[in-house]
This record gives sequence, C-alpha cells and structure tokens, in this order.
Amino acid sequence: MPEGPSIVILKEEVQLFAGKKILEVTGNTKEDKALLNGKKVVSFESWGKHFLIRLQGLTVKIHFLLFGSYSINEMRKPNPRLHLKFSNGDLYLYSCSVKLFTEDPDAVYDWSADVMNDNWSPAKARKKLKALPDALACDALLNQEIFAGVGNIIKNEVLFRIRVHPESLIGALPPRKLTELIAEARKYSFQFLEWKKAFELKKHWLAHTKTCCPRCHIPFVKEKHLGKTKRRAFFCENCQVRYPQPAILAPRLPPSRKILLKCAGQGNVVPAKRSGGKRSIPL
Ligand SMILES: [Zn+2]
Repeated sequence: MPEGPSIVILKEEVQLFAGKKILEVTGNTKEDKALLNGKKVVSFESWGKHFLIRLQGLTVKIHFLLFGSYSINEMRKPNPRLHLKFSNGDLYLYSCSVKLFTEDPDAVYDWSADVMNDNWSPAKARKKLKALPDALACDALLNQEIFAGVGNIIKNEVLFRIRVHPESLIGALPPRKLTELIAEARKYSFQFLEWKKAFELKKHWLAHTKTCCPRCHIPFVKEKHLGKTKRRAFFCENCQVRYPQPAILAPRLPPSRKILLKCAGQGNVVPAKRSGGKRSIPL
C-alpha cells in the first residue's frame, strides 16, 4: 500500500496536467466518469494516502488500496480503473478506489492531520493522542485521523528510531517521548520521500523487514498482526521501551551463542543489556 510520501511523488509527477482539460475519460470505474469530460484540472492534491484531482466543481478521490498503481503516458496494465486523456499526455490509474464528490475539499479534509502538509499541526496531533490514552503506539501511528499518510513502514521505523515498543500505551508515554513520536512521524516521512525519489528507500530501513537489531545485535521480534490494526511489526524487545515500564524489570538472560552468531554479521556483537530507562548503546 503506498504511504503518504509515495502519493506526494505522484502529485509532483502529474503536474504537467495541472490546468489542462480532460479530453477523454475511460476506465472500468463504476463512478459516473462522464462527468469528468471537458473539465479542467484546478490542482492535484494529496491528503495522507488519498490522491485528489480537483476539477471545477468536482473532485476525484483516488485511494490505491493494497495493490493500486499508476502510469503516465504509457498504459502498463490492462483495464485501468480510470484513464484521463489530456492534450499533452495520459494518466492511468489501476486497481484503485475512485470516488467523485462535489463538496469543497477544504471542508472535507483536515489538512492539519496530514504529516506532509504545510498545515500539519503537531499540537493538534498531541491533543488527539491525549484523547486516546489506551491506544497502542503502533495503532496510534496508523490512525489516519491523527497521522494521515503514515503507513506500516513509517510506523516500524519511527518506533525503532525513538526507541518505543509498539505495544506501549499512548497514555503512558512520557511527554518527551510523545513529542518525539509526533516529530519523527513527519521527519521520517520527508526522509522517506527523498530516499524513495533516489530509489534507495529500502537501504535506509533499520527495522522494517529486518531480522536483527542494529543497536543490540539480537534478533528482532516479528509480529504478523500486531495491535488492533493487525499490521506487521518488527521491533527490539531490548532497546525499545514498553510504556508503562514495569516497576521491576525481569532479569534478561544473555542471548545464546547461536543467536549472537546469527546477528553477528551486522557489526560488532554487543551483548544485550537491559536497563530501566537509560539506553547506552548508540545507533
Ligand atoms: Zn535493540
């Protein structure tokens, strides 16, 4: 599923059609696509994972769901859901959800909830998080009303970077950790955008799909369906703190030789040490 930064890239790529008139519409969408004929594109916009084509008096909302994709000028797959022809090229959208609406997008969308929008508001995100003290950190980050655009990759990477266990309760996070969570969601989304443009996104993953913690050199825990959102999670039980923290931490056995060897390829093996709050292993 494309995350917010991928939609921002699409928005940038289709700018050549901004201000252009739609000359022809085809596709197997069940929406009344004939309404788009002859309409001029006012602007292309994005809200989280939604791609919006704002026309005169009408907006097309595209959601790429799990397997959606697009191409420009060249039809790369059969049966596009929507195809728009312009005087200077074509836009093809495949396997996506297409909806038309006539309301003003500014009245429909809360732009301050989109982590990549100029109007993003960390203060509002904090207020919304405060109202969900029992939510797990992994679910809160995927909540599109709070962090529109954040998907599963960003979730795993943000939690690893700020050293927060995905099953931490939002209400138990220290204020400084809550600040880090909100700031990192935006910061990482923009890094994701730059790396994706440079075709080197995966190279920068520290946790997502990884088997060993690069800080502790012990295996990551992999959960297939974590939290209410039931999404894949990769995390380190050693350096990602679970809040609330138990009063007494159970002593942790050092990892077995077999485990250390498994993760040894990722740098110097540092025996995992569990401490209460301070973490001494630098990234
Ligand atoms: Zn670790």
